[in-house]
Amino acid sequence: MLVRCVVCGEVFDDSELVCPVCGAGPESFVPVSSPSKDSAGSTSRRFVILGGGAAAVNAALAIRNADEGAAISLYSNEAYLPYNRPMLTKGLLGDLSEERLAIHDRAFYKQMRIDVHLGMEAFSIQRDMKAVIFTDSSAAFYDKLVYAMGSNAFIPPIEGSKNSNVFSIRSLDDARSLKARLGQAHKAVVIGAGVLGLEAAWAFSQAGIETCVLDNAAVLLAGKIDLRFSEALAKKALEHKVTILPSASAVRINEDSVELADSRRLEADLVVISTGVRARSLIAQLAGLEVQRAVVVDKLFRTSDPDILACGDCAQCDGVSSSLWSQAVAQAQAAGQSAATGSCAAIGTPVYPMTLSAFSTTLFTVGKKTEDSRLESLNGNMCAYYYEDSKLVGATLLGNVGKEISYVIRTMNL
Ligand SMILES: Cc1cc2nc3c(=O)[nH]c(=O)nc-3n(C[C@H](O)[C@H](O)[C@H](O)COP(=O)(O)OP(=O)(O)OC[C@H]3O[C@@H](n4cnc5c(N)ncnc54)[C@H](O)[C@@H]3O)c2cc1C
Repeated sequence: MLVRCVVCGEVFDDSELVCPVCGAGPESFVPVSSPSKDSAGSTSRRFVILGGGAAAVNAALAIRNADEGAAISLYSNEAYLPYNRPMLTKGLLGDLSEERLAIHDRAFYKQMRIDVHLGMEAFSIQRDMKAVIFTDSSAAFYDKLVYAMGSNAFIPPIEGSKNSNVFSIRSLDDARSLKARLGQAHKAVVIGAGVLGLEAAWAFSQAGIETCVLDNAAVLLAGKIDLRFSEALAKKALEHKVTILPSASAVRINEDSVELADSRRLEADLVVISTGVRARSLIAQLAGLEVQRAVVVDKLFRTSDPDILACGDCAQCDGVSSSLWSQAVAQAQAAGQSAATGSCAAIGTPVYPMTLSAFSTTLFTVGKKTEDSRLESLNGNMCAYYYEDSKLVGATLLGNVGKEISYVIRTMNL
């Protein structure tokens, strides 16, 4: 039977004990029926896909679903088969092998007749020739091109951010380099207190590294959870030797310390920068496509050149560019269908929870926060339920809350 993880939207076999993409447990799974196969046409068109992430893979599969005969080629600049990127922080101390993290194995791509070319860095798009040029000077000619090059970690202009003790986590290579460094580290600073930064801090804590997390905001996960939960989570972190420093911003990174704007100096031989992402849109921009915060697409995921579509972290649809796995997958499925058939179903705006498993606790938050709320504190768990017209419209849960998560998912019909 197939199940869907309500946290990241991934669909997989119910024999999995945890979601292979985001590590959520079975309380976050809901049964789904098998996806229907489109009545596939068959052409000999050439589809070229740039990128090796969730968007690229799902666009390729959607094209194959709609066109049996098409030649589909996927080009990634990474050395690995497309993999479950969210596991890089969730599984930093675990098995970071390609086999363990791959979304599909080589045999699967062969069976789907998707030619996967690894280690191929796209350099430019020559729209007049309908060709992509790679850094090794080779070219790939297309009838339709799907631009799915994702995003880069954003590195703010902090002095010393290129030092050898400074890391960001975007790729498998990044995660492996960071993991290799953990054995030599004693004190770490994580710049950025979002979910990724907190997951990295938890991994450091488990590796015995005393860690400080710098939060730009005055309150942890401000705007996402309310103050009681922020304080409880920060307390949990401290119990695991992770200090959250509110209203703290780094101005300089040295080999053995981080200096803050308020002149404080924190000892650190390891620094991780986790301050958001920026869409990889430069190649599109240089090709003359419309780019704002990301590559602008219409409801059919077409860029300003109708033979080039874009999806995932690098795309901006309806003014919004998301940086979520679930959105990358949903957009790519629609973009692939659109590229192959000229139409696609609207993807809507499903509600996805935010979860964090760290510091020996689980945080789960979803939906709206309203005035009409009920707070329960029992056995060390904290649960806030939010109502509108007596209907559950949101919840924040902290602790050992598997049962409560199931209740919220069922009641809110996520
Ligand atoms: C550590 C981490 C944890 C995360 N956790 C979560 C989570 O819990 N939940 C969630 O919803 N989201 C999470 N995300 C975000 C999620 O992984 C992204 O939204 C998703 O991967 C976007 O998919 P994508 O295919 O659009 O882009 P990407 O995954 O960035 O893939 C883009 C691909 O294109 C390749 N590429 C780039 N430039 C070129 C070029 N010039 N030529 C060829 N190939 C190129 C890249 O190397 C990469 O393979 C996390 C991200 C990270 C890094």
